[in-house]
Amino acid sequence: MDFKSSSLQLFLLLLASIALFHPISTHDLDHIHKSSHFLFPQHLLGSRKDHNIEGIHSVKTYLQRYGYLRKNYNIIDTNGAHNNTFDYHLESAVKKYQKFFKLNESGILDVETLHQMSESRCSVPDIFENDDNETSVTTSKLHIGSKYTFFPGRIKWPSWKKYQLKYSFIRNFPEEFKESVSAAFMIWYERSRFNFTEVVENEEADIRISFEVGNHGDWHPFTKEVLAHTFGPGDGRFHFNAEQSFSVEVTYGKYHVRTLALHELGHALGLAHSTNEDAIMFPSLSPNVVKDLDMDDVNGLWELYDGFDDAE
Ligand SMILES: [Zn+2]
Ligand SMILES: [Zn+2]
Repeated sequence: MDFKSSSLQLFLLLLASIALFHPISTHDLDHIHKSSHFLFPQHLLGSRKDHNIEGIHSVKTYLQRYGYLRKNYNIIDTNGAHNNTFDYHLESAVKKYQKFFKLNESGILDVETLHQMSESRCSVPDIFENDDNETSVTTSKLHIGSKYTFFPGRIKWPSWKKYQLKYSFIRNFPEEFKESVSAAFMIWYERSRFNFTEVVENEEADIRISFEVGNHGDWHPFTKEVLAHTFGPGDGRFHFNAEQSFSVEVTYGKYHVRTLALHELGHALGLAHSTNEDAIMFPSLSPNVVKDLDMDDVNGLWELYDGFDDAE
């Protein structure tokens, strides 16, 4: 036996002994890795209905923010204390959340669910409450398999605008990111009948883009996991969370500006969130990920504007 093959044998033997005496699977390693990035206290892992655990209220606040728990559900009880009971309402909210993100619909705060909840995301809700307090998504059956949704009442830019929209960067928007946002407008232009013109800050604009911090006066304060948010047609405020790290190029640990802008402009045009992971309108975004528009996004926009029938 030559030296090479004996050292290979030794190596294989070593591997086998590691596997025997350290029975830690890649699955476990994955769990350890994932749980170290939780937005929520670690001890919530595995909690389920009828548990009462300190910190559960933070999960309730999170699920309420994104439309999975109703707005009239009280997270603070009558004596001003946090309601940490994992009740029926929370269980059904967790199941709804798991369904949206195609996770096991157990109603239990498992690793996958807490991991998904810890992902950075857009803070536009995934589900909207209608007037009857029923949660709903406005969606359509026009395209088979489509996952796109619209805002309640299918709000969109009125026809008198003739798909001509103006946008501006306001309040010291970082110079370095303007080109990426303009590139995102260009991509939507190429796949629709919209025309976008940049105007200066003091001129009236349909979409106004800025960097904001924390509680910034629109009743939607930024929280740790939020990357940005945008108000729909007619409002058009598009806010980046200035406390996140963004980059023009794909950079480790930073969020790609053009990708995020493509998503937010989808909201500015009237699209809500899609459950399709490939769609730009999927609510969460990982760092150093670049995405383009998906057919799901384009189909959604064309349906909302009735095929741009009246475009000149
Ligand atoms: Zn969004
Ligand atoms: Zn805002």
